[in-house]
Amino acid sequence: MFCNQCEQTMNGTGCTFGGICGKTEAVAHMQDVLVAAVRKLAAAIVAADAKGVSDEAADDLVWSALFSTLTNVDFDSERLKEMIVRVFEKAEDLNTRAGLPASGRTAASLANETLLTAPSPDKFAENEDVRSALQIILFGLKGVAAYAYHAAELGCRDHSIAVRASKLLCASETDGVTRSLEDWLALALECGNINVRAMQLLDEGNTKTYGDPVPTQVSLGHRKGHAILVSGHDLKDLYEILEAVEGTDIFVYTHGEMIPTHAYPKLKAFRNFAGHFGTAWQNQIMELPAFPGPVVFTTNCIQNPMMYQDKVFTSGVVQWPGCVHISNGDWSPVVKKALEMPGYAEDSEGRTVTVGFGRKTLLDAVPAILDAVKSGAVKHVFLVGGCDGIKEERRYYTEIVEKIPQDCLILTLGCGKYKFFDKDLGNIGPFPRLLDVGQCNDAYAAVVLALKLAETLGCTVNDLPLSLVLSWYEQKAAAILLSLLALGVKNVRLGPSLPAFISPTILSVLVEKFGIKKVTTPDEDLKAILG
Ligand code: SF4
Repeated sequence: MFCNQCEQTMNGTGCTFGGICGKTEAVAHMQDVLVAAVRKLAAAIVAADAKGVSDEAADDLVWSALFSTLTNVDFDSERLKEMIVRVFEKAEDLNTRAGLPASGRTAASLANETLLTAPSPDKFAENEDVRSALQIILFGLKGVAAYAYHAAELGCRDHSIAVRASKLLCASETDGVTRSLEDWLALALECGNINVRAMQLLDEGNTKTYGDPVPTQVSLGHRKGHAILVSGHDLKDLYEILEAVEGTDIFVYTHGEMIPTHAYPKLKAFRNFAGHFGTAWQNQIMELPAFPGPVVFTTNCIQNPMMYQDKVFTSGVVQWPGCVHISNGDWSPVVKKALEMPGYAEDSEGRTVTVGFGRKTLLDAVPAILDAVKSGAVKHVFLVGGCDGIKEERRYYTEIVEKIPQDCLILTLGCGKYKFFDKDLGNIGPFPRLLDVGQCNDAYAAVVLALKLAETLGCTVNDLPLSLVLSWYEQKAAAILLSLLALGVKNVRLGPSLPAFISPTILSVLVEKFGIKKVTTPDEDLKAILG
C-alpha cells in the first residue's frame, strides 16, 4: 500500500505497511480501487452531461464514494467492495441511458479487473510534479465530497459542480492533453473553486434547515440521566437523534466538531440537548471509555474503538467492522443502548464555552468590527483554526493564541479550536476576543466575512489587517486551502508540517505566487505579522 493523504503520514512521506490511522493494507487497496471506479463514473457523468443527461443518484454516489476514502472514515473493506460494484453499476447505467457505449460487462467483473489494476497515489504518474498535482486534486476533491455529501443530505445539490469535479477526476497524465505545470495548478485551483460552492451549499443546507447560528453558551458539564454522545459533522443525524429521545430522560451531548451545532436555533430548542463532552478527535481513545452512554460517529474522525466497541455506532459513510451501523434514520438501537447504560447519576454544572459566530452573526457585526478597527480598539484579526492532531508540535497553536496581543480578535473553526477552546481570552467591546465560527466547512463564513470587509473598505482581502494561521490534518483542510488560494488569499501560514503530496517544485510555485508559509514559532510568526 501507499497512502500519503494526511498530515500524520509515516515519516512525513507515506504509509506503506498499514496506516498510522489504523487503515489496513486491504482497506487502503479497496479505497484505491474505489477511486479508480469513481473515475469511470466521473467519465460517464461528463459524457452524459454533454448529451444533456444528468442523474442525481450518480452525483451523490461520486460524493459518498470519495468521502468514504477520506482519512478516518471507512475502515470496512467489505462495505468498500460493495460500493465499488455499485459505482460500476451506476456508470454502466448512466452510459446506457445517455446512449453512450457501455462495456456490456457486469459490474462485478469490472470491479474484479480494477482490483488488479487500480494505482495507489504513488503510481499516478511518472513525473513527480504531475503526480503531485494529481494527488493535490484528488485529495482536494475528497474534501469537496465530504461537504457536497452533507449538503445533498439536506437537499442542497448543484449538478454543475459534480460535472466540474468529474472533469478533474478524468484528468490524468495520459488523457491525451499535454499540460504545463501552470495548467496543473489551474486544475488544482479549480478544485478550490468547486469547494467554495460545496461549502456554500452546505451553509445553505444547514442554515435553511436549522436556522442561522446565534451566540450560545455550551455546558461542558452534564445532566442527571441517560446519555448519548454524537460525534462528527452531520447535523441531520443529530437532529434525528434529538427527535428520537424527545420526552425521555436521555440527554444528548456533542463531541469533536459537533460543538457548533448548539448554536443552531432548531437544534438548541430541544430540551434534551444538554452539552458537550471531550475534546478533539485524537483524544477519543482516552476520553470515550468514560462516557456513560453510546457514542455515534456520523463522519470522520473515527479511530479504532477496540476498548469500547460495544457502545460505538456509525452512520452515513462511516464504518468500523463490528460496530452497529445505523441506516434509514432508525436510531432505536442507539436509544436502547443508552437506556441499558448507566448515564450520569447527578447533574454537574461544569464550565461553559461560547459558540455561534456563524456567517449571519459575523456579517451583522461588520459595522461594529470596522468601527473597532478604525478606533484602534482592534488592531488585527487572526483566523487560527483547521484540524487538530496528535503531534506535539501542534502546541504551537495554543501558544500563538496565548501570545496574540489583547487588542486582536481571534476567529476559529474546525477542531483545531480544541487547542484553546476553553480559554477565557476576555472581550474587546461587545466581542469576545475568541469567536467560534463553527465547523471546518464554516470556513465559508470566514471567507464571506473577509470578502465583505474588503468590499466595504474598497481593498482586497490581502490588504485587510487579517492573518490566517491554519492547522491541517486531512483532505477537507486541503480543499479549504485550495479554496483560499483560488480566491487569491496570500500569506497563509500552515502547519504543523507541509503536505507530503506537494512536490518541491509545486511548493516553490505556491510560495512564489501565494506566499504560503510553514509556521515557525509563535514569537517569530507574530513578529512577522504584527511587526
Ligand atoms: S490516511 Fe493518513 S495515516 Fe492513514 S494511511 Fe493514509 S497517510 Fe497514513
